[in-house]
This record gives sequence, C-alpha cells and structure tokens, in this order.
Amino acid sequence: MQNIYDLTLNELEEYFVSIDEKPFRASQVYEGLYKKRFNNFEKMTNISKELREKLSKEFSLYKIKILIKQTGDNVNKYLFELEDGSKIESVLMFHNYGISICISSQVGCNMACAFCESGRLKKVRNLLAYEMVEQLLLIEEDINKRITHVVIMGIGEPFDNYENVMKFIKIINSNKGINIGSRHITVSTCGLIPEIRRFAKEDGQVNLAISLHAPNNEIRNKLMKINKVYRVEDLIEEVKDYIKKTNRRVTFEYILLEGINDSEKEARELVDLLKGINCYVNLIPYNETDNIGFKRTKEWKILKFYDILKSNNISTTIRKEFGGKVSAACGQLRANN
Ligand code: SAH
Repeated sequence: MQNIYDLTLNELEEYFVSIDEKPFRASQVYEGLYKKRFNNFEKMTNISKELREKLSKEFSLYKIKILIKQTGDNVNKYLFELEDGSKIESVLMFHNYGISICISSQVGCNMACAFCESGRLKKVRNLLAYEMVEQLLLIEEDINKRITHVVIMGIGEPFDNYENVMKFIKIINSNKGINIGSRHITVSTCGLIPEIRRFAKEDGQVNLAISLHAPNNEIRNKLMKINKVYRVEDLIEEVKDYIKKTNRRVTFEYILLEGINDSEKEARELVDLLKGINCYVNLIPYNETDNIGFKRTKEWKILKFYDILKSNNISTTIRKEFGGKVSAACGQLRANN
C-alpha cells in the first residue's frame, strides 16, 4: 500500500483527478495531514465519508515509529524503526534562532568516509520520501512544537538518493502542508558532481553544503573515497558553476582532525582554494568514536585555523556542538545500535 506522506500535492491532485474527484480535494487532505495532523482518514470530515473510506483502503500513514528517545542539553536523539525493521536516527536541536532537525536519507551509506561512524554500515537501501516526512512529523508530535529548520545530514548520502530527497523537500516545503521555507532547508553532500549540477536546476532556495574536509587531493583521498571519483579541483569548479547559475551561497564543511588537515599550511591552502567564491566555511570539531582512530584538533588550534580563514576574508564559523553526551553527534548515530 502506498503511504500518503509519499505524495507531493501535485501527485495527490493527479490521484483525485484519476478517480474523478476535484483536484482541490488534495489541498483538503493536505490540510488534514499537515495542518491538523490527523493520524487517520476518518477524522477528515471536510471530505465525504465515502472518500475517506476509499483513502483508508488505498493509502497507509504513520508507518515508522520511535523506538528510543534520548535527551541531552538542547538536543534529543531518536532511533526509528521502519516498516521493514531497519533502523535510522534523527537528531533534534534547540537553537536560539529556532528548532532544527537532522534527517537521515538512507539506511547505511556507501560513501565510506574514513572518519564517519555512520558510513561503517554499508547502504542497505534508500529511504522513501514518506520515511523522511514521518521522521519530522513524529518528532514534532513528540516535542509538541514546530520545527523551523531541516538539514539532510544524518545517516546517508542524500545525493545518492536524489529523487526521494527532492520529493521530501517538495512535500515539507509546500505552503499547503508543513510549509518549511526553502531557505531553512539544507542538503549536505560529500560532493557528487552530477547531482550538484542537477540540483542547480531545481526551483527554490534550498541550501547546499559540501563536505570538503581537505584543501587538496592528497589529504582528501585519505579521508573520502569519493575523491578518487570527483577530485577537489573538479568539485570546486562545479561549485563555482552552481553559484553562477543559482546565485546562492554555498557552505563548505571542514572537520578538523588532529595532525591530518588542521595545520597552518592547510588553512592557507584552503584560503587559496576558496578565495573569491561566495561561500561560508563551517569548521567542525571532530566527534571521536571508539571505533575510529582520528583525534579531535585541540581548541587553540581550531581557533588558529579559524583566524587564518577570517583574516583572509573567508566567512567562517565553528560549529556549535550538540549531542556529545547522548552520542547524537555527527557520525556517532549508529555506533551504539
Ligand atoms: N553524506 C552527507 C551527509 C551526511 S554526513 C555528507 O557527506 O555531507 C554530515 C556531515 O557530518 C558531513 O560533513 C560529515 O563529513 C560530518 N561528519 C561525519 N562524521 C563526523 C564526526 N565523527 N565528527 C564530526 N563530523 C562528522
């Protein structure tokens, strides 16, 4: 049975037309699902009883469930079980500017980045759009508050699940539905060039973040397998093209790893690489895990790296840390499960 949260408003309109109903029924159902948050069709009294019964027979809803919830300082971590028994996680963060959620896009991940805990489990399958939508709906229900920002940075490589991720974005962005503004949505990729090119042609103002983590091929090859396919210089060229086409600012994520990519030399190389590009750099203090040997760069050295970028006019932030205590930090999601 198809899940109702897997349908964009357009698709739902097409469905109603196909059963000789008026297309505006789609907006009515969207209102029931996303504004009123009904968890079954019977409650949707703005449509006929007959139609409600038909929908119940044809569509399922709320098919994933929260197995475990852990809470820490301004952070909740959720372990979900999917219909087929697979497990994924999402992280909720309370900021002064709003509430953000970090969504998983795949069960496992094939990118196998050396430092990443999530990538140690090989990809089992892509998530469908509804499985991403339900992560958000269930967490909002749990906290009884509205999520304002969505980042697709949990387990998985979103551009390795392009269609479903774009569908998910369309669904949560719809003003007839959850209505999260596209500027409040960010997709993070390890740098799949064909999908970056495709993403440049999408409507809306969704943010793009690139996991760069190294200023040259020699270091990036050691950290990210994908660099053997899409090299630093090609990735940067593609990002420049993307900015030219979209006029949008891109974020580069850069995890600082002790003795690997965190020296002054690498900071200066990064400056040269990014000079003149309309971008932010987000420096990420590494979250150590038991299974992987990389160490976190010391704080004074992070600040030094930051200063070098700043003094060369590269917009830079150091990522605020969440979730260390509950192992909800990047790359640690699956470690304990
Ligand atoms: N596959 C996508 C999204 C998932 S990873 C991507 O590569 O961007 C989200 C971010 O968390 C990436 O920048 C990733 O490199 C980073 N990350 C992974 N493991 C981490 C760890 N242990 N500490 C800090 N950041 C980590």
